[in-house]
This record gives sequence, C-alpha cells and structure tokens, in this order.
Amino acid sequence: MLNIVLFGPPGAGKGTQSEKIIEKYDLIHLSTGDIFRSNIKGETDLGNLAKSYMDKGQLVPDEVTIKLLESEVAKHPSAKGFIFDGFPRTSPQAEALDKFLDLRKTSITYMIALDVPEDELKTRLMKRAKTSGRADDADPKVIQHRIDTYNRETAPVKDFYAAQKKYYGILGLGTIDNIFTAICKVLDKA
Ligand code: ADP
Repeated sequence: MLNIVLFGPPGAGKGTQSEKIIEKYDLIHLSTGDIFRSNIKGETDLGNLAKSYMDKGQLVPDEVTIKLLESEVAKHPSAKGFIFDGFPRTSPQAEALDKFLDLRKTSITYMIALDVPEDELKTRLMKRAKTSGRADDADPKVIQHRIDTYNRETAPVKDFYAAQKKYYGILGLGTIDNIFTAICKVLDKA
C-alpha cells in the first residue's frame, strides 16, 4: 500500500495537490476537514460539535477526530492506499494512526509537507474566503488562530515522521503543476 500524510499549514495547498495525487496513484482521499464540513452541512451531531471548534479556528478534540478517521479507513477494505489530508494534526493523532495502521498490517509510507511562508498563507486564505463560503477563512483573527494552532500543536508532528525517516519537505510556492512534479518525485521512489 502507498499511504501518504499530506501535511502543511492552512492554505498550503493540501486539497489541491490531493486531487492530483489521488488521480495519478489511485488512492483514497481522506480529508478530516472535508468530512467535518459535510457533517456540518448534513446537520449531524458530529457536525454540530465540529462546528463549535472550527468556527473559532480551534482543533476538534483528538478523541472525536481519531474515531472518525478510523471509521473512514475501515470503509475502504480493498484500497490501494490512502492520502491523509489534515490528519494527523497532533502528536496523539499521529501515534493513534501508527497503531491503527499497524493492526491492519500497513503503515505510513511518506509524509509530504508543503512549506509556505505565513504571509502567503494569509493572502491565499483571504482569497479563498471569497469563493469557499468557509467562515474560518473570512475572519483574519480566526486565520491567525489557525496558523498559531498549527505552529504550536501540528508542526511538531513533522518530528514524529522525521524520526522514522519518512519526512519530505517540499516548497509549496510556484505553479500547481511544478509542486505536483516535486511531490511525484518523492512518491515514485516507493
Ligand atoms: P485548513 O488546513 O485549510 O485549515 P481543513 O479543512 O483541513 O483546513 O480543516 C478545517 C478545520 O477542521 C480545522 O481548523 C479544525 O478545526 C478541523 N480539523 C480538521 N482536521 C482536524 C484534525 N485532524 N484534528 C482536529 N481538528 C481538525
């Protein structure tokens, strides 16, 4: 299996690159943000809970997020592999994912981390707010909170994969196609 963690701060381009990766490598795309948003739309209990955190730019609690992710993976028993987009976002999530994949006799192949300077992230998120309808993109205070949360709680997850020699950092600037080519160079080594 090819299992990828696609990593990076809000606005780094994870969603855009995921679309291209799943097409080329025939993987299942699991975006925790997308799953939460579809639950919000469907007004489920999970959606209501997630919304109370997301609108403020806070992380949804680990317990809820880990359970959700595991149930989504279990829905695809014959997948060739997965691309995890927006997960793991905390060290406990990374540990839980490793244990869970281990039980299924598989593991993460690579973490691909998109590096983008903070000013560029803010510009992209403000621009995306015009079309995404996402409340968390529209408010500069919420954007700053998401970036701060990323730096404090999520960025350390890099070290978890670096210790396993699975970490690959890629500059998330330039054209979408050039960034994709750089990602493919890593994935084609698998
Ligand atoms: P972005 O990376 O652009 O901030 P996402 O769509 O990945 O957007 O996530 C949106 C929001 O969903 C996050 O700010 C957070 O509140 C919640 N979320 C997504 N993934 C996770 C996760 N793994 N753990 C906790 N909260 C999450």
